[in-house]
Amino acid sequence: MKRCQHDLHMGSRIIIHCDLDAFFAAVEILHHNLDPSIPLIIGSDPQQGRGRGIVSTCNYAARDFGIRSAMPITEAWRRCPGSPIGDAVYMRGTRGLYSRASRKVMAILRPFAAKFEPASIDEAYLDVTEYCAGDWDAALALARKMKLSIEEELGLSASFGIGSTRILAKMGSEENKPGGIHRTMPNEIHTFFADRSLRQIPGIGPKTATRLSEWGLETMTDALGVGELSLARFTNERFAAWLSQVVEGETSDEISVLRSRKSISKEHTFSQDQRDIEVVLERLEELVTMVLKRAKIMGVSGRLAEVKIRYRGFETHSHQRALTVAMDEESVFQRSALRLFAEQVEYDRPIRLIGFKMGNLEVHDSRQITLDLEEE
Ligand SMILES: [Mg+2]
Repeated sequence: MKRCQHDLHMGSRIIIHCDLDAFFAAVEILHHNLDPSIPLIIGSDPQQGRGRGIVSTCNYAARDFGIRSAMPITEAWRRCPGSPIGDAVYMRGTRGLYSRASRKVMAILRPFAAKFEPASIDEAYLDVTEYCAGDWDAALALARKMKLSIEEELGLSASFGIGSTRILAKMGSEENKPGGIHRTMPNEIHTFFADRSLRQIPGIGPKTATRLSEWGLETMTDALGVGELSLARFTNERFAAWLSQVVEGETSDEISVLRSRKSISKEHTFSQDQRDIEVVLERLEELVTMVLKRAKIMGVSGRLAEVKIRYRGFETHSHQRALTVAMDEESVFQRSALRLFAEQVEYDRPIRLIGFKMGNLEVHDSRQITLDLEEE
């Protein structure tokens, strides 16, 4: 694998990824003036441990107990009981509050970006190359300024990543969460990736990471060490070539508003309005499987996951999340769909229709033979 020295500070785009920290929970804590050190779980009614349904999201105090988005609400209660047994706070959450806060955050970020991509309700990519006149120190100062504005004006905490590709920006915002800023300069990319677990790389889904691990490849250093040809034999040419681009900082730096025009979608209408969240979730999982099968047949990857929920009375909401890179691994879309649904569903409303869409499609290079990592 080629390991050329990067001396191309000039010419690199400067991408910033902003990710709000435990966003829904932070908004509720502010709104209800709650103590952030007490576990807060937003989700369906736990009914003192007997409730059906799932966790939407939770604050960091609850995450310390291993509570996660989309976990069964009974499991959350077992780990962190609420009144009268424990002191955890459970609530349904107020979706309108989150959209309003999100719009305010986006309004703070948007003016600095020549290209702006709201990736989900609590996440955005900014191309700030022009605003910063290509100056990486100016970009760091800008991230600090935006972080401060979000804190001072809205009382919310955000993490920022700065890099020359979407992947580096995204990984940067994960690096020192919550409230961190991480910048990877173009000449620091190799160091940044060295010894990093393959599971941390956006674009390597859990199934692919597991497969690579079975071959003894746990880190970027392992994967690059075997060489592109061997890696291509283990996986496929497209993946092997892509992984060398990752470490050379040559993957996508394109920031663009998400279109779902080129998309594959499936939806299901329930014969009777459905009140059982778990039944809806099973159906959603089947829809994702069908869409990803279709994508495999067409030879396309997608960068957008969208879940559509229609409630009784025909009110319909679509919720989107952009991936860092276009992917075709089913488990990645299953996780995205589950999380979007868990975060956005309004728990007390019967559901008429559920839909899933994979958007922003990219066609694979047809000359390359692709070995399907999903197939057993
Ligand atoms: Mg977030």
